[in-house]
Amino acid sequence: MSRPILVINCGSSSIKFALVPEHVAAHQVRRSGLAENLGTPEALLNITTEDGKKTSVAIPHADHQAALTEILKRLGDELPIAIGHRVVHGGEKFTHAVQIDESVLKVIRETTPLAPLHNPANLQGIDATLKLFADLPQVAVFDTAFHQTMPPQAFRYALPEDLYSKHHIRRYGFHGTSHAYVTQHTDQLVGGDNNGWISAHLGNGCSTCAVWQGKSMDTSMGLTPLEGLVMGTRSGNVDPSLHIHLTRTLGWSLEEIDQILNKKSGLLGLSGLSNDMRTLTEAAADGHRGAELAIDVFCYRLAQSLAAMSCALPVFTGIIFTGGIGENAAVIRAKTLALLPHFGLYLDADKNQKMIRGAEGRIDQGANDTELGINAYLGRQIWVIPTDEEGQIARETRSVLGL
Ligand code: AMP
Repeated sequence: MSRPILVINCGSSSIKFALVPEHVAAHQVRRSGLAENLGTPEALLNITTEDGKKTSVAIPHADHQAALTEILKRLGDELPIAIGHRVVHGGEKFTHAVQIDESVLKVIRETTPLAPLHNPANLQGIDATLKLFADLPQVAVFDTAFHQTMPPQAFRYALPEDLYSKHHIRRYGFHGTSHAYVTQHTDQLVGGDNNGWISAHLGNGCSTCAVWQGKSMDTSMGLTPLEGLVMGTRSGNVDPSLHIHLTRTLGWSLEEIDQILNKKSGLLGLSGLSNDMRTLTEAAADGHRGAELAIDVFCYRLAQSLAAMSCALPVFTGIIFTGGIGENAAVIRAKTLALLPHFGLYLDADKNQKMIRGAEGRIDQGANDTELGINAYLGRQIWVIPTDEEGQIARETRSVLGL
């Protein structure tokens, strides 16, 4: 019996799911899938089974509940013993995962103004699964919860007190499940519980996080996932007066500015070509100026953020790269670390080149320092750790329910 947990991540028109058995290696193929274009004639369910076989089924006009019914039919022989939901925003109320009941749903609903696009979609998914799996315990795992250990000096904006105490304006941080997984996993690989890591989750969304003794001390995203690094289509940090300036000078509405900053900026905006780092690294190698600029700004801002995060750590053990870009783009890792010559980060160029496509390991020169002995090595550790957000959600779900 593998006693699997069904992990669900609902977007406004999509559902990602994975069936996570109790004892399997982190990156063993799982039964998983994606239902997309929900509510449209093109709604489609893509499923991968444990043997890696992929199938697609048309589910025209299916809503969240209809899609979940189709998913349920294709879960295989062993049904889940519980469900873990990814919920984007837990505000200040949730410092860890919780079993879902009426009071939890109420708080997620109340937190919606802080995540107007994400929390309603997450609630829709929870609502549908509560109807379909009425007998199964369900747990909410929040992207923000891991960062609730940040001290006020890291989470407060320099704004009037009322905006925090009455209106909850503060830095929350996101990608908590990923930062938690990669730092806990690296702690296990390295041993000891006194490690200070900076993890860099670099995917479509990007964030850094300083983690000391397993606790988040600071992170680059803030009130919303727009703050911080350059991302695929998100600008990251801009001058706080930009909104005012664009409205005054160009007459743009808030909605237009929101669209520009979230959907048309970042790598896409800078390059004028693509939000996909694969396309950009290839184009830059062919001399595309926009792609070169986008990569330069991405790496410089990432290096700045890594340096800034080191302020939050009493001990700086090393850096962990994860996410699609962090796990695969050796050239981006090398370019970023080359911008931090004062930080004792000695990259092993050969190991860096080889650490791609799901490989996990250390890529600094100390990793193979047998002549000097590892204790004589003065550099910091540099790791590539493929993230496993679904595995982490399943683990937290089991832990909350004592399963
Ligand atoms: P994620 O959101 O974690 O799935 O990451 C998606 C991003 O990873 C995409 O923007 C891709 O540009 C990037 N990515 C995936 N593979 C590679 C690769 N081999 N080289 C560069 N970027 C990659």
